[in-house]
Amino acid sequence: MCGIVAYIGKKEAYPIIVKGLKRLEYRGYDSAGVALLNNGDLNIYKKQGKVANLEEHAADKNRSGHAGIGHTRWATHGAPNDVNAHPHYSEDCNIALIHNGIIENYDAIKQRLVGNGYIFKSETDTEVLTYLVDDIHKNAGVSVAEAVRLALQQVVGAYAIVVISKDNPDQLIAARKSSPLVLGIGKDNDFFLASDATPIVEYTKKVVYMEDEEIAIVDLNEGLKLYSIDEVEKTPYVQELELQLEALEKGGYEHFMLKEIHEQPRSIKDCFRGRLNAEEGWVSLGGIKDYEEKMIKANRIIMIASGTSWHAGLVGEYLFEDLARINVEVEYASEFRYRNPIITENDIVIAISQSGETADTLAALELAKSKGATILGICNVVGSSISRITDAGSYTHAGPEIGVASTKAFTAQVTVLTLMALSLAKRKGTISETKFRTMLSELEAIPQKVQQILDKNEEIKIISEKYQDASNALYLGRGSSFPVALEGALKLKEISYIHAEGYPAAEMKHGPIALIDEEMPVFVIATSGTSYEKVVSNIQEVKARKGKLIAIVTEGDDQVDNIADHTIEIPDTDEHLVPLLATIPFQLLSYHIAVMRECNVDQPRNLAKSVTVE
Ligand code: GLU
Repeated sequence: MCGIVAYIGKKEAYPIIVKGLKRLEYRGYDSAGVALLNNGDLNIYKKQGKVANLEEHAADKNRSGHAGIGHTRWATHGAPNDVNAHPHYSEDCNIALIHNGIIENYDAIKQRLVGNGYIFKSETDTEVLTYLVDDIHKNAGVSVAEAVRLALQQVVGAYAIVVISKDNPDQLIAARKSSPLVLGIGKDNDFFLASDATPIVEYTKKVVYMEDEEIAIVDLNEGLKLYSIDEVEKTPYVQELELQLEALEKGGYEHFMLKEIHEQPRSIKDCFRGRLNAEEGWVSLGGIKDYEEKMIKANRIIMIASGTSWHAGLVGEYLFEDLARINVEVEYASEFRYRNPIITENDIVIAISQSGETADTLAALELAKSKGATILGICNVVGSSISRITDAGSYTHAGPEIGVASTKAFTAQVTVLTLMALSLAKRKGTISETKFRTMLSELEAIPQKVQQILDKNEEIKIISEKYQDASNALYLGRGSSFPVALEGALKLKEISYIHAEGYPAAEMKHGPIALIDEEMPVFVIATSGTSYEKVVSNIQEVKARKGKLIAIVTEGDDQVDNIADHTIEIPDTDEHLVPLLATIPFQLLSYHIAVMRECNVDQPRNLAKSVTVE
């Protein structure tokens, strides 16, 4: 993962880089570092931990310079310590480099460089690339930019890099393959580079999303030059950023996660805005319209995703199969791609990813594409790699999600999948007009119903207090509430570090029931609908073993209320839409429990938001 930021121009680079790194901390926070060019000196400061540690460390040092590179790390090779922190630099301190990704053949290159007399300070793959550039620069007598190009030709793996050198103080060299990199063209003949657009947005809206195997040279005298790795000059495609600065601030909330949970009435509405009209009775997803016929006729639809997006895919499976009668399989991207899957030209593969950069999902898509499948995407980040390589797709329009634990992106993904399922069902004729119209009205009412649940925040906080010291938790659901149970368990695990498992309620008898005792909180989705009675029986089974029961029920339910220790009521809705509502109390419960346990809610340990390494 890792976040990278670089600047060259008339402004002071350090404040821009540090501010940018803070925006990118969601990508990793094992260490942070900068390299600043100032009057012929290259000053490098790096520190284990967050960007704040780096700031403290650099506070009494020379931080001037109009060109610089900065990095926030999520370690893949080597422990998270000061030495392994980026930037890495050549022994003579002429060249410094920051990197996001993995150099897979680093060891072979390293052995060669050791043979050439290089002594490595760190355990990282990145230092190997730095020394390789230095070695080529010196031995082949070529410029640093050319050495970067030649070095990248030897590299197997993924990278987004920025290189700075004392040789050319007016120049930054950047390149990418499989890891994201955005270039901002400033108003003042200055340039920005970053892993996403958030560090750039307040300075310029003119950006170039770099493509795989492209090298950019930004030079204060010669401007921007873009090349392919085999030296063919390319014309940069300059786009206008739509991102708003306010979306990147906490807006009065204590944490980004809480802000994002509360944004859901708006983000769900933004997601279906202009795509559905209950009164006129239509739904339309412009992005995939031309592919709908193909989707209906497809052999099967394969949804590939990881983490929370995989849970959204599971909800999508219920929706597509039940409403549109289309065969769907949901796959973990990482498993799918290494399984030698059977994919044909009649398959449609839909990738679901908040960031649109998830490395495994991207690679799985490429595999599917190579086998002739049609590839579609559901992403939140506009201009992301997945959105660019897919044949078509739909954005979730949830706005930037900064909390590492996904909340509003999940509900937006489920909303897009619902819209897709409805649109396909209508076109295919597998849904009656009355049911179609009722579902559209119900979907339109979801934002306001989400708000009603958010208004119960205090009630949910009181329940959270009772379970803040739990060591384990079970989450149960049936039908499309099963993925919600999985998502509930994941939320609790990732931010409060309580071990939690999600299960289909009926599966509990096949093992997990052995874990239930008076210490075990069991969170159940027991809303009205087809499997209500069955879930009530499962609840009785938990109660009989003295488990603590927290049930999410439909407003007005009293059957479960008589058995459960706590019930949280959610407004009634169409059964297919329950996941959009039932997930909200779970998000709030996890949030409050994590805060009570004094965990770092927005940046949980060992995690990063955008998983751009395999
Ligand atoms: N492989 C590099 C390191 O461990 C970069 C890691 C990353 O981008 O996640 O330092």
